[in-house]
Amino acid sequence: MARYEELGTNLEVVERRIADACAAAGRPREDVTLIVVTKTYPAEDTALLAGLGVTDVAENRDQDAAPKAEQCRNLPLDWHFVGQLQTNKVRSVVRYANHVHSVDRLRLVESLSAAVLKSGRPELGCLVQVALDKEASISGAAAGGESAHRAGVAPQDVAELANAIADTPGLRLDGVMTVAPLAGPLAGNPARAFERLAEIATAVRAAHPAATMVSAGMSGDLEQAIAAGATHVRVGTAVLGVRSPLG
Ligand SMILES: *Cc1c(COP(=O)(O)O)cnc(C)c1O
Repeated sequence: MARYEELGTNLEVVERRIADACAAAGRPREDVTLIVVTKTYPAEDTALLAGLGVTDVAENRDQDAAPKAEQCRNLPLDWHFVGQLQTNKVRSVVRYANHVHSVDRLRLVESLSAAVLKSGRPELGCLVQVALDKEASISGAAAGGESAHRAGVAPQDVAELANAIADTPGLRLDGVMTVAPLAGPLAGNPARAFERLAEIATAVRAAHPAATMVSAGMSGDLEQAIAAGATHVRVGTAVLGVRSPLG
């Protein structure tokens, strides 16, 4: 019961932050969906969150997510996969996830499509993960380059991957996702990073009008993301608490 109350209080704080950020940006509150990132926390917490009205949860490792989703299969939850995805995990992920935010290569598109078609499940929503620290710049390799081990495609490669998803059976192009970069010229400036993502999202929508999801913003920077037009914020720590370093 104490955990239920703790999660409820944390959710109220996050809800207030989202509502305030929407108001400040002149956006209706319904524009923004809260996705609670439950990674490293037990299925019991996910169930409590569903009881508190959370509709969307995210995980980043299939090993943890698959058993959790199985335990929570009777709850009205939309599961999002937000972590780096290896093709050997794809068959498992398409069993529970309705959205994969971390599509970052053609090989993964092909693998997801094959798994969806084989499973007979409905279309899988896919977002192109954008690595803003891989931005091509006038100064060449200065922008991230070697240091950028972060997942995602460079901004200049987004259109090609988006087109591939849109053209692939079993997959639906839902939009774009990013994590504020730790390297490159946008490091430490989430507001500017999310504005850049918004530009990329607009370009994707010009070619694919239904791809309206802009997944950006976490516990520390959801306000900046909402100001820049994010439609989905992914919040872990602010709801569930600080994760153990081993997580
Ligand atoms: C863990 C994680 C989050 C949530 O981060 P917090 O800082 O705990 O809110 C969001 N997005 C991704 C991709 C994550 O892996």
